[in-house]
Amino acid sequence: GEALPRPAATRVMVVANQKGGVGKTTTTVNLAASLALHGARVLVIDLDPQGNASTALGIDHHAEVPSIYDVLVEGKPLADVVQPVVDVEGLFCCPATIDLAGAEIELVSLVARESRLQRAIEAYEQPLDYVLIDCPPSLGLLTVNAMVAGREVLIPIQCEYYALEGLGQLLRNVDLVRAHLNPHLHVSTILLTMYDARTRLASQVADEVRSHFQDEVLRTSIPRSVRVSEAPSYGQTVLTYDPGSTGALSYLEAAKEIALRGAEKDQRAADERFAA
Ligand code: ADP
Ligand code: MG
Repeated sequence: GEALPRPAATRVMVVANQKGGVGKTTTTVNLAASLALHGARVLVIDLDPQGNASTALGIDHHAEVPSIYDVLVEGKPLADVVQPVVDVEGLFCCPATIDLAGAEIELVSLVARESRLQRAIEAYEQPLDYVLIDCPPSLGLLTVNAMVAGREVLIPIQCEYYALEGLGQLLRNVDLVRAHLNPHLHVSTILLTMYDARTRLASQVADEVRSHFQDEVLRTSIPRSVRVSEAPSYGQTVLTYDPGSTGALSYLEAAKEIALRGAEKDQRAADERFAA
């Protein structure tokens, strides 16, 4: 892919939506691969005990593999558990194992229980342009850790009837975390997924989401495509599984939009500093 502007500082993006099956994991791994193919250095943190992001990136995550659980609960350095993703230069993954299912409870009694992921990312010394965190389908302590660690929330929305249900609760949680734990947190990006241009419902939902969130919704939406859903069973993203497919091209385009928006924002911040 063409090289895109690199962010001034590492962008930590929390891919969240407490609904299951809306495309969080698919979006995390395919956007991450797209950004890496555009020349960025990207770390995916799998924060879902199911470990679907790890699977999709071809990363071993059987129970004995050092994982995000060891980082969150045992305080192990992130660098000790990160693995490179084969076939995509610049892409790395911190896997999740089934242990993580217990972490939600175990974290409760630990010190700094909400900021353990943030501390681990801050202590990570390898240069990174992006960290993408794949959240579980809940708003518990794991998701709170992600929201304390990141500045940006990326919400994938599936273009179907109940798309907006539950979104209010997610937005309220973002507000709560911003008020009490992380003043920088905001919803920066909304991505419409599994978009089927042939159905009227999909375009109605897309219009509704766009009218509510004019600045956040990416122009690019991700079409429903069999190639996208097949790729994980080969331990690949659609970017390597079928690089010419519509799914691959739309994730590359979404990644480009995210990078360019970030560059514009960096430019505005630099201008403001200059004017001050
Ligand atoms: P979540 O992480 O939010 O639970 P997933 O990313 O696992 O959601 O997606 C749910 C299901 O939908 C998976 O089986 C995935 O392969 C499929 N899927 C996601 N995006 C697409 C797409 N653009 N086209 C076809 N299937 C998709
Ligand atoms: Mg998932």
